[in-house]
Amino acid sequence: MKDLQKELDERKALHLYRSRRISDGPQQPEMIIDGKEVINFCSNDYLCLANHETVKQAFIEGIKTYGAGSGAAHLVNGHSKAHHALEEELAEFTGYPRALLFSTGYMANLGLAQALVGKGDTVLEDRLNHASLIDGGLLSGARFQRYAHNDVAQLKEKLKTAKGETLVLTDGVFSMDGDIANIPALADTCMQHDAWLMVDDAHGFGVLGENGRGSLEHFQLPQNAVPIYMATLGKALGTSGAFIAGSDALIETLIQKARPYIYTTAIPPAVAEATRASLKLIKTKPELRTQLNENIHYFRECATQLGIELTNSQTAIQPIILGNEELAVAMSNALFKEGLLVTAIRPPTVPKGTARLRITLSASHSRKQIDKLIEAINNSI
Ligand SMILES: *Cc1c(COP(=O)(O)O)cnc(C)c1O
Repeated sequence: MKDLQKELDERKALHLYRSRRISDGPQQPEMIIDGKEVINFCSNDYLCLANHETVKQAFIEGIKTYGAGSGAAHLVNGHSKAHHALEEELAEFTGYPRALLFSTGYMANLGLAQALVGKGDTVLEDRLNHASLIDGGLLSGARFQRYAHNDVAQLKEKLKTAKGETLVLTDGVFSMDGDIANIPALADTCMQHDAWLMVDDAHGFGVLGENGRGSLEHFQLPQNAVPIYMATLGKALGTSGAFIAGSDALIETLIQKARPYIYTTAIPPAVAEATRASLKLIKTKPELRTQLNENIHYFRECATQLGIELTNSQTAIQPIILGNEELAVAMSNALFKEGLLVTAIRPPTVPKGTARLRITLSASHSRKQIDKLIEAINNSI
C-alpha cells in the first residue's frame, strides 16, 4: 500500500492541497463562512434563485405532494409527474423536441458520450472543457483528442482524419475563463463533417440571450445547428440536476443506453418542482439578467480603470490570472481576511501556470460590495 499521508504532504508543499470551508445559511452575497461574515464572489447562483422565496415555496409544496425522495431510478418508479412536467417545460423553453433530466451535470456528460460513441469512434474536445466532458470522452472508449482552445481551424484538421462516429464536445461558456465558445463556427464545421456537436451550457443557460435561453440564443442560432444541448440546474436555476435536450431519437437512445441515467436514483420530485418555479422566474423576470449584466459591466469598468488586468470574458465569470499557485492562494486568503470570499483555482482544474482568482458576480451584488472587492484586489496585487 502506498503512503497516502506522504502524497498529501507533497501536495501541501506544492500549494495544491484542497480543503473545504463550511458555510452556514443560504447562498447569497452575504454569507457566514467558517464562522466569519463575508461577501461571496464565488457562487454559480448567478440570479440568486437558490434562496428565492418563490423557489423555496415550490420546493416545500413539492415535498408536501411527493415527499422527500424519489424512491427509485426513472426507469423503475422514480419518474414523477413533476419530473415529466419539468422535462416538457425545458424542451419548450430551449426549443428542442425533447429534454431528459439527469441527477447531475457530471452524470449527464458521462452518459451522453457513452451512449453515442465507443470503440472505433472519435471524440474531439476543446482543451479547456469541464472535467466532466473530458471524463465522459475518455470513459466512452472512443479515440480521444483535444483541440486548442476555441481553435476551430485545428478542429477542422482533426475532423478530416476522424474515424467512425464523431462527437465534438464543448463548454458553451468556459467554466474557469468565462469566455464563450465560437458556436456558429463549430456548428458549421461539424455540419460539414457530419459530426455530432454537443454544447454544455452549464454557465450560459438562464443568463445568456435576451430570454435567458443560453448560448444558442446569444448567437441567435437555430436548434438544428447544435443537435445536442446540455445544461445544469444547480447554477443559474439555483437548484440541482441537469438535462440534455435534442431530438426524440436522441432522448430515447439516452433512456435505453446512458448508464448514468439508468442506474441512479432520480432527483427528488420536489427539486423538480422548485426548478419549475426557477424556470418560470427566468421567463418572467428579465430584470434579473439586466441586474447581472449591469454588475458585470460595472466590475469590468472599475477594475480596468485601476489597471487590474482582466480577461476578455463578458460573462459573470471574471478570472484574474496570476500564474503562480502560491500567489493565488495567498491572495485568496488575504481577501478572506478582509471579508471577501474569492476562490483560488489551481491546476489541474486549470492548465499549469494559469492559477487564478475566479470571481463570479450575481444579480444581487450591490455596487458597494463590488467596490470593496476591487479595492481589496487593487491593494493586494
Ligand atoms: C458545473 C458543471 C458541470 C457539472 O454539473 P453538476 O450538475 O454540478 O454535476 C458540467 N459542466 C460544466 C461546464 C460545469 O460548469
